[in-house]
Amino acid sequence: MQPALSQYLLRQGSYINSEWHSSHNSFAVINPADGQVLNQVADAGPEQALAAVAAAHKAFPGWSALPAAKRSELLNSWYQLLIKYQTDLAIILTAEQGKPLIEAEAEINYGASYLQWFAEQAKRLDGVTIPAPSADKRIIVQRQAVGVVAAITPWNFPNAMMMRKAAAALAAGCTFVVKPAQQTPLSALAMAVLAEQAGIPKGVFNVVVGTDAKALGEVLTTDPRVAKFSFTGSTAVGKILAAQCAKGIKRVTMELGGNAPFIVFADADLDAAVQGLLVAKFRNAGQTCVCANRILVDKSIYAAFISKLLAAVNGLKVGTGFKSSSDLGPLISDEALQKVAKLVDSAIEQGAKLELGGQRHKAGKQFYTPTILSQVTADMAISQQEIFGPVIALQQFTDEAEAIQLANATDYGLAAYFYSRDIGRVFRVAQALQFGMLGINEGAISNAAAPFGGIKHSGYGREGSQYGLDDYTDIKYLCLGGLE
Ligand code: NAP
Repeated sequence: MQPALSQYLLRQGSYINSEWHSSHNSFAVINPADGQVLNQVADAGPEQALAAVAAAHKAFPGWSALPAAKRSELLNSWYQLLIKYQTDLAIILTAEQGKPLIEAEAEINYGASYLQWFAEQAKRLDGVTIPAPSADKRIIVQRQAVGVVAAITPWNFPNAMMMRKAAAALAAGCTFVVKPAQQTPLSALAMAVLAEQAGIPKGVFNVVVGTDAKALGEVLTTDPRVAKFSFTGSTAVGKILAAQCAKGIKRVTMELGGNAPFIVFADADLDAAVQGLLVAKFRNAGQTCVCANRILVDKSIYAAFISKLLAAVNGLKVGTGFKSSSDLGPLISDEALQKVAKLVDSAIEQGAKLELGGQRHKAGKQFYTPTILSQVTADMAISQQEIFGPVIALQQFTDEAEAIQLANATDYGLAAYFYSRDIGRVFRVAQALQFGMLGINEGAISNAAAPFGGIKHSGYGREGSQYGLDDYTDIKYLCLGGLE
């Protein structure tokens, strides 16, 4: 049964300049597990997006001029509130997104960890001095906040994808406007409640929720007061938004789709590889950008690996996120489920063998059974697209060179995984794989201390780590002359 949603955190409209927006036009937020309406939310349009940009623009001089230690203190207060309200935030997240409550709690912790990390990094926004070419000069390099940051975020991690950007932007001294996905606005609005409680000043953090993504995106990517745009979502939409930003020469970060290979070499610890694959594949019912998508297994251990995998996947429980036994919740929409089912069906038509699952789950309309396909080949659609569902698609390879060639044969370059106990191979393969992030004998790679991001069609820019502030700061060079 669904626990009650916190009335304190549940909001009905956008948060702009520390005010809550209301409107007669509203849209329903639906629980994907049962189709029930959770809340009606005021549908903001371009006017509200413009108001949010204006508020952030007005707030920028004051916020960026605060001592870093003060910004750090405020981010820390916000962090403490996320931890305090972790369970309430997780309940809202599971209700609107579907993931098991334990995963939602982990996501709140993960989102909070960016606040904690960047509260520290705010104090380390240091510069350098460089030896000058002549004795009468000094060269000083400073880093300064870029200005107003606008962001658009997806539904699969409604808290963490937003906090990863907001925490870094605010730490650097930028002000922030975010448009969350229309399926999951409640988690973003709950964060605004806590930002206000933490004392984040008026206009520094704004959330615009609405259904006309194109019109809202147009404002956020073209308004001249926005200095930087940061997007997490699909590559198709990222291409449109990057093109819109190009007209105004805006700074851009793109965290886009992936098509991660997961390679199991013959010398791997097979039990560890199976456990790693469960994590990399089934978290959030397979709806993560770093999900293992193409499972490449050495021919000599293929049969043994499938048999261990079948036993493990058979044990997974599907059900609503509020059932403590559930390992997998629903997919975000019926459309998403249809897409997964179509990829599975077409793979089978083209010769893949169904080892497990391959159908809707009896838990409800939007639940899909954990599925294993063997004899998958690189030319099938299921190997070329993000599956975004709980489906393991197994391919075979005969040697290391073929594994690397298969793994790199994609336009995407976000995450890749491989399992091997041969240290020489570990370094060779790590060098050869064309991806921004590698899980080596590890299925869970995301954390605030590490630089998250991709290459190729998976985007550019990095979030988290000591590099995470770079995207939100400009380098300014000061040449001091006449010093002799
Ligand atoms: P999506 O369709 O690209 O939507 C993402 C966001 O963009 C949503 O807020 C959406 O708004 C908005 N949007 C859609 N069309 C737009 C347009 N024409 N102009 C402006 N905004 C627009 O992606 P999704 O299906 O929600 O998310 C899944 C994708 O995100 C996957 O490809 C996944 O790999 C990727 N992802 C990447 C990362 C990463 O860090 N690299 C992390 C998580 C997810 P509405 O909700 O209102 O449509």
